[in-house]
This record gives sequence, C-alpha cells and structure tokens, in this order.
Amino acid sequence: MSDEILMRIEDLSVQYKTRMGWTSAVDGVSLDIRRGEVLGLVGESGCGKSTLGKALLRMILPPGRITSGRIWFQGRDLMTLSEAEMSRIRGRNISMIFQDPMTSLNPIQRVVDHLVETIRTHEPNTSVQEARERAAQLFDRLGISSKRLEDYPHQLSGGMRQRVMIAIALSLNADLLIADEATTSLDVVVEAQFMDLLHELRREFNLTILLITHNIGLVAELAERVAVMYAGRITELGSARAIFKDTLHPYTQGLLRAVPNIRLQEDELYKMEGSPPDLINPPPGCRFHPRCPRAMPVCSTLQPGFQMVRPDHWAACWLYEEIPAELQQEVAAP
Ligand code: SF4
Repeated sequence: MSDEILMRIEDLSVQYKTRMGWTSAVDGVSLDIRRGEVLGLVGESGCGKSTLGKALLRMILPPGRITSGRIWFQGRDLMTLSEAEMSRIRGRNISMIFQDPMTSLNPIQRVVDHLVETIRTHEPNTSVQEARERAAQLFDRLGISSKRLEDYPHQLSGGMRQRVMIAIALSLNADLLIADEATTSLDVVVEAQFMDLLHELRREFNLTILLITHNIGLVAELAERVAVMYAGRITELGSARAIFKDTLHPYTQGLLRAVPNIRLQEDELYKMEGSPPDLINPPPGCRFHPRCPRAMPVCSTLQPGFQMVRPDHWAACWLYEEIPAELQQEVAAP
C-alpha cells in the first residue's frame, strides 16, 4: 500500500424517497481510498455501506439520488462526468462484485461471452479470439478449468461464479475493486479460499479493494485500514491494528464484543442493545446515543465532529472532543 490517494470522497450524501419521506442512507461521508490498500467498510445491515459503494460508481437508481458531494478519481470528479463517461469508467477503472453474482450475470449467456463482451466493449480493437484467450488465461490464474468458460452461470458453483466476477474485473485491469458482501453467499470453506485468492491477486495485480462487509473477521484478515459506518455516517477510521487493538468508538467496541470468540469463557454472546435508527427521523446529535452505554447529555444534542484522535486514527465521538462550555454545565448539573 502507498500513501497515494486513488479515490477521495468528499461530503457525499445519498437520499432515498420512501412513502414516509426522504431518508438519508449516506450522510456527509468523507473518505480516502489509498492505492494498493484493502479498505474494509463495516457496519450493521442498513448502515449505508452498500449504498456508499454503489454511489462511488454513480449506480444509485431512482427513487434514490446523490444529493451532494464529490468523488475524485484519478484527477476527475466523477460527479461531473456524463453518463457515457461514467459507463467507460465502470468496469474499465472501477469494478464491483456483489453478494449474489447471479444478479450480475446473464443466465442465458455463456460465461465466455460475458468476458468477451466486457473486454471488447472497453477495447473495441481486441478481436474475439484475443478476448477468448485472455479469458482462458484469467480462468487458469483463478484456478478454474478453461473448459468451464463454455458453461452457463447456473452450471457453476457460487464460489466459481464469484471467481467469474473477479475475472471480469481483472480482464480490464480495473484499478479499484469494490467487493460488496462478496462472500456472504459462500460457505466458510469457499469463503476462505475466495479471501486467499483476493489476497494473492491484490499483490499480483496491485489491486485496490474496498471490502464492504458486516463480517468483522474477514476485515481482520484482509484489510489494512477499516472504516466503521453507523446510520449513514463514518464513526471510526484507522489502521486495522488500531481499530482492533485500540478501539475508540463505543459502537466499534460493541461490534467487536459481539464477535464470537472461542478463547473467551462466556456463557452468552454479547448483544448490542437496541437497533439502528430510522433514517427518516434519525436521532439528533450522535446517532448512536440511544444505544450508547457511555452517552452523555451533549450526545443527544450536538453531533460530534470527525476528529483525528491518534495519528491516522479518527473517531466521531464526544469522548474525544472538547464539550462546549454550556453543555459541560449541563453534564455537571444534578
Ligand atoms: Fe456514545 Fe456520545 Fe460517543 Fe455517541 S458521542 S458514541 S453517544 S459517547
């Protein structure tokens, strides 16, 4: 991993229209993705992490919309590009793989046709034969017999289908791979193989990966840095080591406590109280305050800033920020 910024996300917000009104799925997220890193993006279901991943490719469909923000990628703000320019970037520069590859693969098209079509759409001068050869080489690299190129998606196992999605991403040498819950549909053995493969490919192709998952264990294995998301906002960001060994935010502390650990002699698994908030009417101040065991009066009034608490380790929490004088009095009052 280098310190070079591959993508800079500035103050990005996404809203969805529901029958009850507009809901903020992503609320003012700012984040850098560094070239060559695996950045884990974790949080409970519904916290906005998948929406953020799709927003980076401007794949938010109505009734959703990106309401503000900038996405800088290789010197250009993706928010200012036309749809035709974005189409060239999707797949060519930024690829995304989803939880269920069947939703991305055409069930009536052979696997080889997906690859050939992808390659020739972005590289029209490549012949069908050259594209087929590249597809076969990629399959070989990913540990799948090139004979399987002639299969239809339903003839492959879930793990193989995920490899096909990776082959499509690698076929164009994408700079950034967004893996959105890519292992959720896999059993634990195939999941482990898939993660090993990602690890190898990252080194070999200098891939940058945004790993979106609710599985903290995966992030611990693969990510160099981790961003924790809650109710549409980033609450903590730092190196994986800092997040796991020097956890700052009470929400991250709760997430980590909830991970089963066979070395601990606990009779019951820890369960974080409460549920993520309704984002149509989110709680004021810190959105985690109704569930936070360390909440103070200021937490329900004012939103904490996103502060660098230790070198390159950030958190949005009043425990690490000076509380305004008028609210300190409120804390001191009986
Ligand atoms: Fe808890 Fe307050 Fe920190 Fe929010 S700001 S996580 S409520 S202590």
